[in-house]
Amino acid sequence: MMQVREKKINSLDGAVFDVLVIGGGATGLGIAVDSATRGFSTILLEQNDYAKGTSSRSTKILHGGVRYLAQGNIKLVHEALKEKLLNYKNAPHLARSMNFIIPCDNLFMQGFYGAGMIAYDALAGFPKKYLSKMVGRKTLNAELKEIGEKHKNRGVVYNDGQFDDARMAFGLVRTLEDNKGIALNYIKVIEFIKEGEEIVGVKALDKQSNKVITIKAKCIFNATGIYSDEVISLDKGEHEGTVTLAQGIHIVVNKEVYNSDDAMLIPKTTDGRVLFFIPWYNKVIIGTTDTKVSKVLDDPIPLKEEIDLVINNANNYLSKPINKEDITSVYAGIRPLMKATSSTAKISREESITIANSGLISVVGGKWTTYRHMGEKLVDFAIKKGKLPQVESKTKHLKIHGYISEEKAHEIPLGLRFYGEDLIKIKEMQGFNNTFHADLPINEAQVRYAVEFEQAITLDDVLARRTRCLFINAGACIEIADSVAKIMQEVLGMDDSWREKEVENFKYIAKKYLISNY
Ligand SMILES: Cc1cc2nc3c(=O)[nH]c(=O)nc-3n(C[C@H](O)[C@H](O)[C@H](O)COP(=O)(O)OP(=O)(O)OC[C@H]3O[C@@H](n4cnc5c(N)ncnc54)[C@H](O)[C@@H]3O)c2cc1C
Repeated sequence: MMQVREKKINSLDGAVFDVLVIGGGATGLGIAVDSATRGFSTILLEQNDYAKGTSSRSTKILHGGVRYLAQGNIKLVHEALKEKLLNYKNAPHLARSMNFIIPCDNLFMQGFYGAGMIAYDALAGFPKKYLSKMVGRKTLNAELKEIGEKHKNRGVVYNDGQFDDARMAFGLVRTLEDNKGIALNYIKVIEFIKEGEEIVGVKALDKQSNKVITIKAKCIFNATGIYSDEVISLDKGEHEGTVTLAQGIHIVVNKEVYNSDDAMLIPKTTDGRVLFFIPWYNKVIIGTTDTKVSKVLDDPIPLKEEIDLVINNANNYLSKPINKEDITSVYAGIRPLMKATSSTAKISREESITIANSGLISVVGGKWTTYRHMGEKLVDFAIKKGKLPQVESKTKHLKIHGYISEEKAHEIPLGLRFYGEDLIKIKEMQGFNNTFHADLPINEAQVRYAVEFEQAITLDDVLARRTRCLFINAGACIEIADSVAKIMQEVLGMDDSWREKEVENFKYIAKKYLISNY
């Protein structure tokens, strides 16, 4: 497998494309898919694994943003709500609609949030299936069994979406490939090639073979999120930073803590934010925080204060406090926000698009929910600047790779649903019934599929993003690391020392997800 990869990369040395995208997160993939489906020859380069950065570490909701509505950011909420509905339609195997309950302690609170959610419905265009409603004690008793009595008087139920961020990224990688685009992971852009002042290509390092290749393109996008300023430096040298970094953490807990099919939104935490409880596979995600940080890290580390903040605010609503043994994983992500001097929670989540004198187009900000629309806007921007010919975007009704109808999607258990149509192929692969751990949704066939068809190279690729095991139960992942690595070793054609090193590397990463470390 590794020789096939190297051959492919070598064959690209000196190639010329219409569009080159730097960064394989939500933003870069959105741009690349939009570009390729318009018919532009497109290549995307990712320095680590796809979605290894912020895009695998979100709260995993598709939403307009109740908090942004309260901040009066109508345009952002309206755009995101439209995109949420498109995600339901174009990717039912990756995204699903969910009830979100806001527990309200008194009538005033219910009236306040009820009115807010009517505005939310209006901005979504009053979709019949997803209208919000007021509910009483009976519903809260039935749906929120683990919530303390004083918070179960009344509530408001509204609709938002729940999705798997990293799996959405692979859906997009494969959609790009289906449309003749190329995506390569572990390729880092290290230098720009210029003719005069204008950027005409990049030099990129293959981190697996240590070879450098040259790729040219008419239009180059910098979609590197928190790394954006680093890439701009390759063009301009020292410059004033454009990105503010805001960390958010989540704890992942067993269902015994919160056993509902509905999500819950705590409307006001002790630091004036909102806190989500989101059912996700066999677990529940609780988060998040908003902490200004100064360092860009590939694997950001939760702060103890952030973990305490989440646990304490969650406990305020639970009848039984969270026990550390209930926490199976903890993860952090860093938001790339537009540079501003205000508190990070108040900085707009809208994207900012700039073009340098060299022609490099950079984008920061935005949300996973709006990845498609951002891609469309970015390619339109390049057309407006004369870098590409006029062709209309085609992604509004584009079905994401693996698409199956909503009805069919619901017949597949959640842990396998994200493969959609590809599940047929996986079921035929060796080891579909060979599972590794009772608490982890992973089998041998999935490991083989990840390596053969989804560009997985490291154990972290398989356990953190092709499957979501590391985010589901970090301790269990450490237990199965060697068994999974053995399968990868066989498919990749590597030796025992490769496996030993992979297991060691993975354990180093996985320890950061263990609550016992904090
Ligand atoms: C805590 C938290 C919760 C969130 N929750 C939600 C949510 O529930 N819903 C929602 O819609 N949004 C949410 N978001 C926002 C969303 O996750 C981000 O907006 C989105 O993931 C940003 O994607 P990106 O592609 O811009 O950045 P990234 O995902 O970081 O991608 C940038 C990529 O560029 C690569 N790169 C950098 N330099 C180079 C180089 N030189 N060469 C090649 N590649 C390079 C990086 O390795 C990285 O993979 C959340 C964010 C956070 C932090």
